Amino acid sequence: MVKNQQFVVIGLGRFGSSLALELMDLGYEVLGVDRNEEVVEDMSSFLTHAVVADATDEEMLRSLGIRNFDCGIVAIGDDIQMSILATILLKEMGMRQVVAKAISVLHGRALEKLGVDRVIFPERDMGIRVAHQLVTPNLLDYIELSKDYSIVELAVPEVLDGRTIGEVNAHSRFGCSIVALQKPEGCITAPTSMDVMNTNDIMVVIGSNGSIYDFEASIVKEEEPS
Ligand code: ATP
Repeated sequence: MVKNQQFVVIGLGRFGSSLALELMDLGYEVLGVDRNEEVVEDMSSFLTHAVVADATDEEMLRSLGIRNFDCGIVAIGDDIQMSILATILLKEMGMRQVVAKAISVLHGRALEKLGVDRVIFPERDMGIRVAHQLVTPNLLDYIELSKDYSIVELAVPEVLDGRTIGEVNAHSRFGCSIVALQKPEGCITAPTSMDVMNTNDIMVVIGSNGSIYDFEASIVKEEEPS
């Protein structure tokens, strides 16, 4: 089913193309724009529309009806000047939501000054993500809520197999809470203290970074042979 939010992705490099393909997979309509004909040709059969155009060509952008899209993503990185010019045009056209990729802190700051709704630093964010995953063995994914608070997905290790949420008692012992339990048969949101965890279920934990770290460290400690 096609969902009714429409996206335009400007720049179909590695970041832009994977973002565009994922949005298509999620059921959204995506217009891809790139000035490189070959790139557009490669992507055209996978996107709702793909057009060869220079993102700094105002006339062209207007003729594509860009301002009617719900969200524009400027995924040009290397050429900061192009990224900034394309962003200015999207903002000037009155696009509802503009997201832009930055390759450096200064680039990001310039984009923020232009009033983009969200600046993405793919390389920096992926580096941080991988670092967290390397030092936290059971960590599958995490979302930073603020500087000090996060939501993380942890694989339930063998040592917790068959234990109830109440027995683990993460809230009283560490200060973090298990807010969902993803099982093969479905997701239990707001699990009760009676819900049982099994190996390879995924627990979704919310709390301060310190409390999540302590919780995870206690699991690792329990797992170590005595
Ligand atoms: P990635 O890391 O995502 O591959 P990148 O940071 O190296 O990308 P670029 O190579 O600068 O970014 O650009 C990504 C895409 O944007 C390229 O396919 C390029 O052709 C396209 N692009 C660059 N400038 C423009 C422009 N002015 N108009 C349209 N497309 C552009």
